[in-house]
Amino acid sequence: MKKSIKDLGNLQGKTVLMRVDFNVPLKDGAITNDNRITAAVPTINYALEQGAKVVAFTHLGRVKEEADKESKTVAPVAKRLSEVLGKNVTFVSETRGEKLEESIKNLQNGEILMFENTRFEDVDGKKESKNDEDLGKYWASLGDVFVNDAFGTAHRAHASNKGIASNIGEGNSAYGFLIEKEIKFIGEALDNPVRPLVAILGGAKVSDKIAVIENLLSKADKVIIGGGMAYTFLKAQGKEIGKSLCENDKVDYARELLDKAGDKIVLPVDTVVAKEFSNDAPSRVATNDIQADEEGLDIGPASVELFKEVLQDAKTVIWNGPMGVFEMPNFAKGTIGVCEAIANLSDATTIIGGGDSATAAIQLGYADKFSHISTGGGASLEYLEGKVLPGIDSLSNK
Ligand code: AMP
Repeated sequence: MKKSIKDLGNLQGKTVLMRVDFNVPLKDGAITNDNRITAAVPTINYALEQGAKVVAFTHLGRVKEEADKESKTVAPVAKRLSEVLGKNVTFVSETRGEKLEESIKNLQNGEILMFENTRFEDVDGKKESKNDEDLGKYWASLGDVFVNDAFGTAHRAHASNKGIASNIGEGNSAYGFLIEKEIKFIGEALDNPVRPLVAILGGAKVSDKIAVIENLLSKADKVIIGGGMAYTFLKAQGKEIGKSLCENDKVDYARELLDKAGDKIVLPVDTVVAKEFSNDAPSRVATNDIQADEEGLDIGPASVELFKEVLQDAKTVIWNGPMGVFEMPNFAKGTIGVCEAIANLSDATTIIGGGDSATAAIQLGYADKFSHISTGGGASLEYLEGKVLPGIDSLSNK
């Protein structure tokens, strides 16, 4: 078990290095969505209220060369953080050096400072992204304890997570409340679920999600497969799929999985097909009669009903990936249907594993109907694959 911020003891007077995920969308220098900032407030306030000196830092986009720095400064993020917290946030426009060190020394108990984009360190030899040993050591030397609350980068071993955790000293690192929630929901659903556990996987490609399918097949009671990836499985069953998305080099693999998993895998029984990949293309529902010039763009109504039935008794649900091309309203019904079916389960722990399905649920107004919507794209996918996440694994044990 890893330590949580609460296991670090009283933080009064301690300098808390806090890795947050403030990788917010920016347009012309203005923040268009500050969810990631508001989401970190409980962890920040917990430390400040105890009288800690908080040093917050984040990455923002990718910084490859000097010229990227102007548009990737986190100055507007520090400003917004100050508004959200209702208190002054000292911004230091450096990632190392005397000015940063002095500013940290001058912090009083209960005050917060934020320093510049950690990826500014990538311009000269990718020091942040390659977890440069000296950089991790240096950042660790700036504080007493380290709190990682950036789930979105937890699947990467960077200087700003693993580098600091490895150098801050035995017992001095922990996760914050955001990562705690991810571990509580995704971790428990995988390792100790209330059963039946039903997984629903969708999205474009089988090849992107092989490890997720395998891990979930070993843990779940049922695995529903929809979206573009279903056609490779339907082809493996000998069905006609027309010009639907198919990975021909994965058909044998899909057949093996179907043989092994038996009725654990549930596939669509009908498909909304069109002759063109366009929202305006005339469409129809095909049941085992997809024509050669037709392409499956969504699951059909009978599939939604079938999936609802499978979900009915579920006590834990993990959903990753849309059921169709949900970006086109005419082919979003399957994704909406499944989203509704999960949202309406009254007695189940329901989890969306990030990415497009999280976007879909939020856009459709179901955000508060799920027990947990993961904040990580790549990180939640790797978590669902059963991989160890270095940004969490490197933290202190309880
Ligand atoms: P992923 O990132 O793997 O979760 O895939 C999400 C993408 O899969 C979305 O952009 C969907 O439009 C796409 N997708 C879902 N179903 C289909 C389908 N039947 N045909 C083509 N693309 C699809």
